Amino acid sequence: MSAILFTNVRVFEGTGDALEPAEVLVQGNRIKTVARGGQHIARSKAAEVVDGGGATLMPGLVNPHCHFTYNNATSIADITALPVEEHMLVTMRNLATYLDYGFTAVIGMASAKPRLEVVARNAVAAGHYPGPRIRACTPEYTVTGGLGDDNRLDREIPSIGLICNGADEFRRSIREQIREGVDIVKFNNSGDSLTMGGLPGDINPMTDDEVRTICETTHRLGRRVAAHAHADSGVLQCIEHGVEFINHATFASEATIEKLARVADRHWVTPAIAARYNTTYEASDWGITEDLAEAIGNKREFESGCRSMTLMHEAGIRVLPFGDYGFAWIPIGSDARDLEHMVNYFGMQPWQALRAATAYGGEAWAGADGDKLGRVKAGYLADLIVVDGDPIADITVLQDRSRITAVMKDGHFHRRPAAGEPFAAARPKRRRRAA
Ligand SMILES: [Zn+2]
Repeated sequence: MSAILFTNVRVFEGTGDALEPAEVLVQGNRIKTVARGGQHIARSKAAEVVDGGGATLMPGLVNPHCHFTYNNATSIADITALPVEEHMLVTMRNLATYLDYGFTAVIGMASAKPRLEVVARNAVAAGHYPGPRIRACTPEYTVTGGLGDDNRLDREIPSIGLICNGADEFRRSIREQIREGVDIVKFNNSGDSLTMGGLPGDINPMTDDEVRTICETTHRLGRRVAAHAHADSGVLQCIEHGVEFINHATFASEATIEKLARVADRHWVTPAIAARYNTTYEASDWGITEDLAEAIGNKREFESGCRSMTLMHEAGIRVLPFGDYGFAWIPIGSDARDLEHMVNYFGMQPWQALRAATAYGGEAWAGADGDKLGRVKAGYLADLIVVDGDPIADITVLQDRSRITAVMKDGHFHRRPAAGEPFAAARPKRRRRAA
């Protein structure tokens, strides 16, 4: 069994408000021992020693609202228009990008076409392609006229989602998707400002009967549910029917937040605030000025979302970063910017944002199946990154790929540091060639 001993590192464990000097032994694909407070782990010939040079060792990032099948397009229609063969290649490239940026686990939050996420998950798990650990999702389920249905009476337009109406249609289609191998079933029980005035975020087009059927069918088959729920009534449906992943929760009322806080251990909230922040303030190169963002309701979603997330964080609800990266002005790989937004707009301390990105994310990824990831702790999966800097002192350091000097997934280095980067000294020296 391979073993790697990290020495001379300062550890962010996945929780806690300070880095701590430590040594960490990885054996096989798990963390075997963590020695703190100046303690040392016995050296052995079997373990490769990696001198961290004082860098930060922390859990790999977990993205619980990941659109790894999106192609950084300027519209949902442009994502949908990609032929399936190209789309599969884009998907695999995105997964390699995520791992490069230190994301060692992701939860798919709507496959842009059926089976893209399932096939990608299987290929990465088999070791054929680089990528994080993956939970694979359905395309997003919607109803006629909902977010993701762009059809007109005079022409059919391919949808990024699966359009069903009534309990029977949802039941049949969800069973089919689970047969094809998804881990997560996602549905849209709210509109969105990105429908450009079509169906606004605070409107919920789905009936209770439809949502109940989606959740019962999915849970009966042992899978988990996610909802695109901006609207207050959408969030209430999520609480009522046990939707594990509540996306956005933008317009949740104070009464709804109180209700959610009482069952906080059953839910994860992923606001995906970048799709509001970047769209309002940074998308003018693509024709979305701040005025237009205000007119379509995007700015209102940003402001209301920040208010809701601040209240939820105060109430002890687990609010997680990342989400909705995959558009031109919110490109894949820049996701760690969310951590800065959480500090600036949700009232989180930097370490709390990091906890959400690692320890909480790991719990969200694992669900009830007992996997342990997202912490630097004995028995946990060895998904680790080395960071040149202190992310608690400067939360933006994780936005810079060159500062993430090593990425380890499942006990194997995806990337080792280049010469001159922290812990380069530990790399085997090349023998000088005889002249
Ligand atoms: Zn999303």
